[in-house]
Amino acid sequence: MKKLSKLSCIVALLLSVTFYAQESNPIIEGIVKEANENSQLERLAHEMLDVIGPRLVGSPQMKQANDWAVAQYGKWSISAKNEKWGEWRGWERGITHIDMVSPRIQTLDGTQLAWNPSTSKKGVTAEAIILPTVKDSMTFKNWLPNVKGKFVMISMNQPTGRPDYNWEEFATEESFKKMKEDRDAQTKAWRENMSHTGYNSRTIIAALEEAGAAGIITSNWSKGFGANKIFSARTKKIPTVDIELEDYGMLYRLAEYGNKPELKIVAESKELGAVPNFNTIAEIKGTEKPEEYVILSAHFDSWDGGTGATDNGTGTLVMMEAMRLLKKFYPNPKRTIIVGHWGSEEQGLNGSRAFVEDHPEIVKNIQAVFNQDNGTGRVVNLSGQGFLHSYDFLGRWLNAVPKDISKHIETNYPGAPGRGGSDYASFLAAGAPAFSLSSLSWSYWNYTWHTNLDTYDKIVFDDVRSNAILTAILTYMASEDEQSTPKDKIVLPMSRRTGEQMVWPTPRSPERKGMLEEK
Ligand SMILES: [Zn+2]
Repeated sequence: MKKLSKLSCIVALLLSVTFYAQESNPIIEGIVKEANENSQLERLAHEMLDVIGPRLVGSPQMKQANDWAVAQYGKWSISAKNEKWGEWRGWERGITHIDMVSPRIQTLDGTQLAWNPSTSKKGVTAEAIILPTVKDSMTFKNWLPNVKGKFVMISMNQPTGRPDYNWEEFATEESFKKMKEDRDAQTKAWRENMSHTGYNSRTIIAALEEAGAAGIITSNWSKGFGANKIFSARTKKIPTVDIELEDYGMLYRLAEYGNKPELKIVAESKELGAVPNFNTIAEIKGTEKPEEYVILSAHFDSWDGGTGATDNGTGTLVMMEAMRLLKKFYPNPKRTIIVGHWGSEEQGLNGSRAFVEDHPEIVKNIQAVFNQDNGTGRVVNLSGQGFLHSYDFLGRWLNAVPKDISKHIETNYPGAPGRGGSDYASFLAAGAPAFSLSSLSWSYWNYTWHTNLDTYDKIVFDDVRSNAILTAILTYMASEDEQSTPKDKIVLPMSRRTGEQMVWPTPRSPERKGMLEEK
């Protein structure tokens, strides 16, 4: 009797589990079907990346993107606005054209860095020279007048343009090992020589400009075929361009062998003074608990060597598509759903920090923040970010996600609070339950992150689609949850570095006047 009842209990339990798992939810089914059969991702990506282009803070393209997103949400009947949070030095990229004109003519692959001071239309023609090997700062000081009227190449000449994975595949073991040892030795010598000059790779730029250099040439190789990282110029009046490894190496050898390469650099741009910065915020109002919030989060800005396709075009696409899906299948959410397309993440999480600072009433009532910002890949990691009960609520929400999506996700509960890297950290620092939907890399760090190759063709739409479905369902589940998210934090461990107990990160104020005031 007893045995039988136990067995029947188990059978009943199994049946109910099976039944629960197969229970259909028209909202979730609708989201999945629409995302798969009527995806807007490709069109949105084209409009954002090909038509508008990169979204550097302070550039007219950033503002165009803000306006485009508001208009797009309008077409989906989602209310949206641009919320001003600061100002930045306005700058618009113009034509870059770099030619070697002697000892022969060749058009080179390179571009001006962001905020580069414009050359005239005719550009600057000058010889390109390399830094000398010096024994001390006095020797360097004596050499410095040589830069007058010259372009100065300030990056190390890479010994190989082949990424290590390529060597690993084809080189003999001994040859690969030798290359790495030689490269390490060369890098060490380069650093030592730089410190002998009395400067570092940043401060030397001002010294060269002051000594009358005609321009600065860098090559910030990203360790992948054809990939260079493109950041901002540090010169005040003379141009700074980055030239890709292949051409930089050639110029370097020409200079080293005494062939005196001459370049013509045209690098036009426009200074636009102080321009306003915005976050684009869209909202689907909650019906039962409108004063509680689920926030979708992805920074909207980018560097401008490519078009910011995977940093963070793809995160932006995920959140826009998720909002569209939610509006269509879950138009009357229990809690208010907000999406934040933040400005100026790249200069220090500025847009999201401003939002957190400006909206304490929202931040204290957050049910969850879902941020995505590390490339095009499907989500493979989710951390509880140090919230004691994260296993309960994140586990519950994740359980509603189709298995073919959730099976790729490794969870880590309760985890530890992230301290930066992307905008979820701005919310986390204020104690809000904020999570990072962390992606599979697809060679993000070398090939697309802040590079000239961060373009539409690198997007893996199947993975982005999967992320949009995931985000929409997590948002729906978080919004519907009976329980408001418990914000109890774990007791943080002792730091191995300092031996002291670690503390929860604290909020930081944004830079609200970027590159406008001398510090
Ligand atoms: Zn990013």
